[in-house]
Amino acid sequence: MDDLSTPAFLVDRDIVTRNCDRMRAKAERSGVAFRPHVKTHKVAEIGRLQHGGAAGPITVSTLAEAEHFAAAGFGDITYAVPIAPAKLERAAALGRAIERLNILVDSQAALQAVESFAGERPGTVFDVFLKVDCGYHRAGVDPSRPESVQLALALSRSSAVRFRGLLTHAGHSYNSLTTAEVLAIAKQETAAVTNFAATLAQEGAGELVRSIGSTPTCTHAESFTDCDEVRPGNYVFFDAFQATLGSCSMSDVAVSVLTTVVGCYPDREELIVDAAALALSKDPGPNLIDPTFGYGLVCDLELRPQPLKLIALSQEHGKIEVEGNAARWPVGTRLRIVPNHSCLTAAMYDRYAVLSAGQLVDEWRPVRGW
Ligand code: PLP
Repeated sequence: MDDLSTPAFLVDRDIVTRNCDRMRAKAERSGVAFRPHVKTHKVAEIGRLQHGGAAGPITVSTLAEAEHFAAAGFGDITYAVPIAPAKLERAAALGRAIERLNILVDSQAALQAVESFAGERPGTVFDVFLKVDCGYHRAGVDPSRPESVQLALALSRSSAVRFRGLLTHAGHSYNSLTTAEVLAIAKQETAAVTNFAATLAQEGAGELVRSIGSTPTCTHAESFTDCDEVRPGNYVFFDAFQATLGSCSMSDVAVSVLTTVVGCYPDREELIVDAAALALSKDPGPNLIDPTFGYGLVCDLELRPQPLKLIALSQEHGKIEVEGNAARWPVGTRLRIVPNHSCLTAAMYDRYAVLSAGQLVDEWRPVRGW
């Protein structure tokens, strides 16, 4: 690690492997399909660790991820962001190249775009999931509205579509203050797709996959019930936010940012480090639960938390408030910061430094862009 230039993104492969094995085992025990999200890490090597070595089904959040993982042998992919009409050409090309690319729609307008695209290209049929809003209110149809039933039935009748299922994501579980709240949201997540699937079955929509998944709901649940498929993503790395939420313990967090003290100001009890917004992201993380937390957990090289609080981030200057004498951390001192939100932090880097048993053993290259 001494040779690494800072800021550097460190990934502990042993912890990643343990996190991957634990979640996959829970899915297997529960008898549900496992389609983990890869947007947290964007690395083919970790995609395989998620499936115990195989290139199994995955979820992605960009077509760039889909194409990168397809090139690495992953043939069953769900692109879990509502499709932009201008991306149908690219999605269709990828769908032809692999076993299956599922796309997502949540509006009549998107279905019309799919139908008119397919209408101009005979033989084109898209595998489609309908995005359902289970309370997060980001994307997805409200399953209680008649228009949502109409859209689902239109999907089931469309010759441009193989209607595969209902997909929801309980992103609002991240706003929970207690375990009981996470568990209540986990119930909402499964109920939204289960009840909607039952309504649609009565209308003759056929068999639909109920796909759910967020790391807080998937880690807090004892087992997966009332769903057919799970898509957690962040659990691979976890982060300071997930530890505060109770999704994991700090020892389950697989990533940290290596940084160097570049300014030491004992008179004002502050340090400046070379990891800031572009090395960490500006995610406030657990501040709903702990407003004093700061922009990441500042630790020494052995990951022991220090009496240091990351209070401000500009582009390349991270400002740390020191409890005690700042001279204890002179210029040149190296520290490790456990990020608040590992998905956003990882996306800042074009390479990850991979550790095993504390030694640098590999370098992984994530796919970037859209
Ligand atoms: N599914 C969808 C549609 C998502 O947007 C996300 C994350 O944003 C996930 C699954 C995985 O959630 P998490 O990263 O909390 O595991």
